[in-house]
Amino acid sequence: MKAARAKTPRRPALKKPSNPSLKDPVGVYCRVRPLSRPDQECCIEVINETTVQIHPPEGYRIFRNGEYRETQYSFKEVFGTLVVQKELFDVVAKPLVEDLIRGKNGLLFTYGVTGSGKTHTMTGSPGDGGLLPRCLDMIFNSIGPFQAKRFVFKLDDKNGVDVQCEVDALLERQKRDAMPVPKTPSGKRQIDPEFADMINVQDHCKVEEVDEDNVYGVFVSYIEIYNNYIYDLLEEAPFEPIKPKPPQSKILREDQNHNMYVTGCTEVEVKSTEEAFEVFWRGQKKRRIANTQLNRESSRSHSVFIIKLAQAPLDADGDNVLQEKEQITLSQLSLVDLAGSERTNRTKAEGNRLREAGNINQSLMTLRTCIEILRENQMYGTNKMVPYRDSKLTHLFKNYFDGEGKVRMIVCVNPKAEDYEESLQVMRFAEMTQEVEVARPVDRPLCGLTPGRRLRNQAFREELSRRLEMRGGPINGETEEQSVSEMFLQNFPPLPSCELLDVNDDQTLPKLIEVLEKRHKLRQMLSEEFAKNVLAFKTMLQEFDSSVISKENYIQGKLSEKEKTISGQKMELERLEKKIKTLEFKIDILEKTAVIYEEDKRNLQQELENKSQKLQRQASDKRRLEARLQGMVAETTMKWEKECERRVAAKQLEMQNKLWVKDEKLKQLKAIVTEPKNEKSEKPERPSRERDREKPVQRSVSPPPVPPSSNFTQVPNSQQLASNPQGHRRSNSCSSISVASCVMEWEQKTPSHKPTSGTPNARSRQQEPGQSRGCNTSDRRRGMCWTGVVEVSKRRDELEIEEDQCCRGDVFKTRGGGQAVQFTEIETLKQESPTGRKRRSSPSNADPPEGAADSEWTDVETRCSVAVEMRAGSALGPGYQHHAQPKRRKP
Ligand code: ADP
Ligand code: MG
Repeated sequence: MKAARAKTPRRPALKKPSNPSLKDPVGVYCRVRPLSRPDQECCIEVINETTVQIHPPEGYRIFRNGEYRETQYSFKEVFGTLVVQKELFDVVAKPLVEDLIRGKNGLLFTYGVTGSGKTHTMTGSPGDGGLLPRCLDMIFNSIGPFQAKRFVFKLDDKNGVDVQCEVDALLERQKRDAMPVPKTPSGKRQIDPEFADMINVQDHCKVEEVDEDNVYGVFVSYIEIYNNYIYDLLEEAPFEPIKPKPPQSKILREDQNHNMYVTGCTEVEVKSTEEAFEVFWRGQKKRRIANTQLNRESSRSHSVFIIKLAQAPLDADGDNVLQEKEQITLSQLSLVDLAGSERTNRTKAEGNRLREAGNINQSLMTLRTCIEILRENQMYGTNKMVPYRDSKLTHLFKNYFDGEGKVRMIVCVNPKAEDYEESLQVMRFAEMTQEVEVARPVDRPLCGLTPGRRLRNQAFREELSRRLEMRGGPINGETEEQSVSEMFLQNFPPLPSCELLDVNDDQTLPKLIEVLEKRHKLRQMLSEEFAKNVLAFKTMLQEFDSSVISKENYIQGKLSEKEKTISGQKMELERLEKKIKTLEFKIDILEKTAVIYEEDKRNLQQELENKSQKLQRQASDKRRLEARLQGMVAETTMKWEKECERRVAAKQLEMQNKLWVKDEKLKQLKAIVTEPKNEKSEKPERPSRERDREKPVQRSVSPPPVPPSSNFTQVPNSQQLASNPQGHRRSNSCSSISVASCVMEWEQKTPSHKPTSGTPNARSRQQEPGQSRGCNTSDRRRGMCWTGVVEVSKRRDELEIEEDQCCRGDVFKTRGGGQAVQFTEIETLKQESPTGRKRRSSPSNADPPEGAADSEWTDVETRCSVAVEMRAGSALGPGYQHHAQPKRRKP
């Protein structure tokens, strides 16, 4: 049957232990060897079970200016010179062997300068076996009865182990027996006397509580690291006596579980302590030969003896090994005898040897560095890279420090004075190493089968043989085999009588020969047939096995695929769950935000409503106010309109009165003017007041004037004016041609009426001679300009104000060669006398009221709206214009 592979119990997939608290420090023990000679100076003292004291030797003290300083170093345990190998083994190595059998890894190495007793401690001396043979002895004492048959376990070349059934193991054994390879001594053979007393430990030390339901297989390998090269000390090279080939170095590889192993290294399955030690001794011999042949410094090489223990559970019957590779456990114990730790110059090496020694020293330096960095990382939490790969030695044991296992170191010191300085170095390194922690190996998982299977099976077999014995049948395998052979012999032709009674009997022997030949042929035939059957059966089995394996592989592949898918889906699930959580968190936040916003919105709406209500209120207030204001405005407007109307009416009345007065005056003036025309002697008829009053009423639609007091006061003026015609310098507006011409004639006749040039009126006219507005007496005398001007002076308040009013009009040529005047305005000229001197006053100059002048003008305008034909030969030019205030309508 095909072998099943098994994983080693190491679990490097978990590079760092899951529980970092489960760590153990590297166990460092110190062994002080006795002095070679009693007269030697001693510099190391064992103070107590855990402490040694080192003091500088006499010579050293002198050399160092008398400086004397004792140093103490503490270790897990210190072994003095009197300590025997067994004691050391019990304390240091026994727990490692126990761990090995429980499926855990261990590393034990000796460290110290050359001659300090490393090899003595590890290997032992004749008659005093060291840790190595004791470990082997303990292992075989413990697992002896439960060992699997040879070749049931098979180590592969990738640091793995296979298990195969006993039939295959038997066939392989037969094959190996047929080959001319050196055989390890079986238990029955004589032990090599060279090391016989080293393994004769007689302790019968064994591990308690060994799992009896397991079967065990022990494999040993022995390598040497020299000059940073790995050599297999168990490799069988063809013997070449003339020129032996130098040994080939091996390389290190990492297996699928990240454990380091030496590729192609010989691993020998051993079944007893003797056999194992014989293998070791073979390696030792080879090492010695190589050192001699290659002129090597033997103390500068590291030797590593590796014990691998494979164990697999029995099947449910407790009869055969369970053919399940997952159930196989492979643990290993490495026993390392390191090279001397002293500095190179001390060994007086030369040339190549010096270089090689340097290399070896280098690997020890690397070991120190690795341990230092490990310690630093563990103590200060740093994550510096540990340079395991810098040397083969550290690289090989990387997993012990990096992964898990139990590491123990025995520091060997020679107390002699010459080794003082080197011993100090060793002590320092050893003390530091104690601070490094290594993950504690986990317990091997249980196989799941009922314990006590082996015992039950044994009990069953015993019972069976007892019963067979009672029946008288075969009681053991031997009798069984005999009966089978008897049955087999019965098929052969019976032998004839082979008694030779006569010398001349020539029949018996030929017959016998014939029968024997027949039997021989038959036997050959049968054996051939048997071999054929065996072969056929074997091929059948192999086919079956391969089909099972292929199916298994297929299923495994499928399983791994499914596992991958499942793990992928799990990861995806985890991712999605995380996402869901994140989204839920976001939703939560958003919901909270939305609530806050809604609250805000409500508040704002409320505010808006309040404001709009307020606004509406304000608008209605405004409307009310507007209405009230409009009412007020209307009221005020009405009031003012009424007031205006009232005032206008009053004004109108006043005006009408004035007009009436003017008319009256004009009538008087007319009367004066027309007087010489009719009869110079005839006195003008003074119009009665009643008649005069009626006139404006007839001409104007305005209501009859309420005669103000001023109006009445002017009446005497007009009378004065009428009585004194000299006072009328100018005629006021001319309502008809005859009036105008009369006025002019009158003016020409009365030159004495020339106004005083000194008067402001005259002055103002003379100031602007070029202007058409200007109109003076000379102009009028020459007949160039006719201006209907009434000069009215009136007294106002205390100031003497002289006010002249002039009627103005446009003069233009008529077609008939004459000139026409169109009255356009009235000009009022006022003169104020600041001196308050009495103004010349004449009845004709009596000031009519303002309103009277206006109404007079209106009257003139009305009456002179038609052109006035001037006298022929008049010099009045057409450009003679008079500008004044715009026409005012009658109210
Ligand atoms: P190393 O391997 O460190 O170079 P060895 O183990 O070869 O040193 O020891 C050198 C010598 O000292 C050997 O002859 C050995 O028998 C002896 N020796 C070392 N340690 C002890 C010891 N504890 N008791 C007695 N002899 C010892
Ligand atoms: Mg040695």
